[in-house]
Amino acid sequence: MVSTKRLYELQEADLELDKHLFSIKELDALLKDDSLLIAARTAKEGRDQEMQKLGSRFREEELEIESVKAKMVTLEKRLYSGIVKQPRELEDLEDELNTLRLHYSKTEDRTLGSMMDLEEARTGLQQAQGILTDAEQKWLKRKADLSFQRQSLIESLSLLRNRRNEISRDIEQSHLSIYNRIRSSHRGHAIARVERNTCHGCRITLPTREVQRARTANDLVLCVSCGRILHVT
Ligand SMILES: [Zn+2]
Repeated sequence: MVSTKRLYELQEADLELDKHLFSIKELDALLKDDSLLIAARTAKEGRDQEMQKLGSRFREEELEIESVKAKMVTLEKRLYSGIVKQPRELEDLEDELNTLRLHYSKTEDRTLGSMMDLEEARTGLQQAQGILTDAEQKWLKRKADLSFQRQSLIESLSLLRNRRNEISRDIEQSHLSIYNRIRSSHRGHAIARVERNTCHGCRITLPTREVQRARTANDLVLCVSCGRILHVT
């Protein structure tokens, strides 16, 4: 009579190993997924660029204002200096000055608008920086937690492998081959417990003689329905 006890223990060890390997794979995927951090970084970079663009626009407008102001001062000096006496020339100067005044006023309005945009962008940048700092801290903590879990799994994985090898040493090579073949086609479950004549692999009620055969035969007995190795408890 062949004992399926060790084979059943092997399956339990293998399933536990599978579970560990799956969890490690899941943790690896989570460790790679820094999408929230990347999104926060991209948002902050966008805000930086916006600030730079608005900042240089504001500086250009300020320079423009300075230049218009300087021109106006020069014109005013000339206009009120008494040097120019010709009415036509005075009129031209007055026109030119009025045009500059209008330009000055428009540029000033624009600069005021730019200043407000810049202020708004600065607030946006501060918020984005805050979100990024928070995301960086959270990611560091998450990475540390996940790495710790991964390390614990790796450590118990080697213990499980040792246990698995220990069990498999007690099992006949031909039985191991059958076990491995069925395991690969039955999602890791090569051996099924039989309780009250029911195969726990497929839930079918087995003929009593089959259960009897599984209990006493000198070789492995497979379930007539699902093909798993029967392990009568
Ligand atoms: Zn079955």
